[in-house]
Amino acid sequence: MATPAPRAPDARVLIVGGGGTGAALAHDLALRGVRVTLVERGELTSGTTGRHHGLLHSGARYAVSDPESAVECIEENTILRRIAAGSFEENDGLFVALTEEDMEYLPAFLEGCEASRIPAQLLSPEQALRLEPNLNPSLKAAVRVPDATMDAMRMPLRFFATARANGAEILNHMEVTGLLIHGGIVSGAAVLDQVTGRDAEIQADVTVNATGPWSEQVARMAGVDVPIRPSPGVMLALRGRLCNMVLNRLHRSGDGDIIVPQRALSIVGTSSWVVEDPEELDVPQDHVRRMWEEGEKLIPAVRGARFRAAWSAARPLIGSRGADTGRELSRTFKAIDHAEADRVEGFVTITGGKATTLRGMAELCADVVCRKLGVDERCRTRETVLLPHTAHYAA
Ligand SMILES: Cc1cc2nc3c(=O)[nH]c(=O)nc-3n(C[C@H](O)[C@H](O)[C@H](O)COP(=O)(O)OP(=O)(O)OC[C@H]3O[C@@H](n4cnc5c(N)ncnc54)[C@H](O)[C@@H]3O)c2cc1C
Repeated sequence: MATPAPRAPDARVLIVGGGGTGAALAHDLALRGVRVTLVERGELTSGTTGRHHGLLHSGARYAVSDPESAVECIEENTILRRIAAGSFEENDGLFVALTEEDMEYLPAFLEGCEASRIPAQLLSPEQALRLEPNLNPSLKAAVRVPDATMDAMRMPLRFFATARANGAEILNHMEVTGLLIHGGIVSGAAVLDQVTGRDAEIQADVTVNATGPWSEQVARMAGVDVPIRPSPGVMLALRGRLCNMVLNRLHRSGDGDIIVPQRALSIVGTSSWVVEDPEELDVPQDHVRRMWEEGEKLIPAVRGARFRAAWSAARPLIGSRGADTGRELSRTFKAIDHAEADRVEGFVTITGGKATTLRGMAELCADVVCRKLGVDERCRTRETVLLPHTAHYAA
């Protein structure tokens, strides 16, 4: 593990949000020698991060319709395997064509993978069935890509553990209830300790809004707007591993067209719709039914599998107002310096992206923060191997 750079004199950054994005940002800034405090209103990773599908994306899912995100995913997929080895099941993924229409999508898919430098190997039905015997036997073709299974919680815990070892202060059950703002400058936040019920203030030179689908609400505390739409999706966990590789349907992204093997479960997902408030997370029964129906097309044994759980989580998607299902929105990410965007100094928002791209999001945001602080330290998270997730509990 690399040691942090010498500390920048007294510069202090407050990160709001203890999901994967906040974790990776705390790690990046701590390595650059910046004093960091991170506050999370619940348990660490209790937002979207701890509830996602667990797919380390190769980017292939976005290769045709969202090439920017495809490139981000393959780059970060490669880096994460290096700095967080052991956090992934390196099982690869198959994109499976079941219909003539899927086959018509195949050339664009292969071209998109090539353009984004995602390794893709075309397989015959026989080759695919040898790898995954439970696949629908009437498949027409499959493409193998470097998708993988990740542990949604343990992987970010490695970022928290390493950040803390490098001096970051990580405070959970600490909710930001307001921002300290005078004369267009944010100088920290008012917080409520959820355990003791005490109110306090935390001063900071820069406050970063890393609250994922809550970004819009926290930005509003500074009187600014961020174009985030919370876009929930439903996942269905079935008992038993019905596949060992990550399966995607080879077509334009749709509902229930991914199956991720997670330990002794198979997770079918997801759906997508758009809400105003990320707390509005119901689990619509018609979405759960669709997971069964679509999952069964990829693996017929889904029909007889035993139900374990169904839940939902909300994506923080950068989108225009009035988005429909959220499928049409890019999975790319953005760091917004509100001094430039809204003339509010000392406040930055990092949002969008995927769990797969958390490190890249942190690098982009830390560059913005360091520029504001006058800290001239380069990012070192590409090569710094993370502590194991168990180091989080040892702290
Ligand atoms: C259904 C679904 C499936 C997905 N599957 C995958 C996948 O397989 N692979 C992948 O790469 N990505 C996946 N994603 C995307 C990924 O989960 C998210 O992009 C990522 O987890 C977002 O992380 P985050 O840290 O930005 O947000 P979050 O994890 O939501 O973290 C934000 C945190 O801010 C906290 N917070 C909010 N308000 C306050 C406040 N006032 N004070 C203090 N703290 C506050 C919240 O409690 C929360 O913990 C999926 C998303 C969804 C919805």
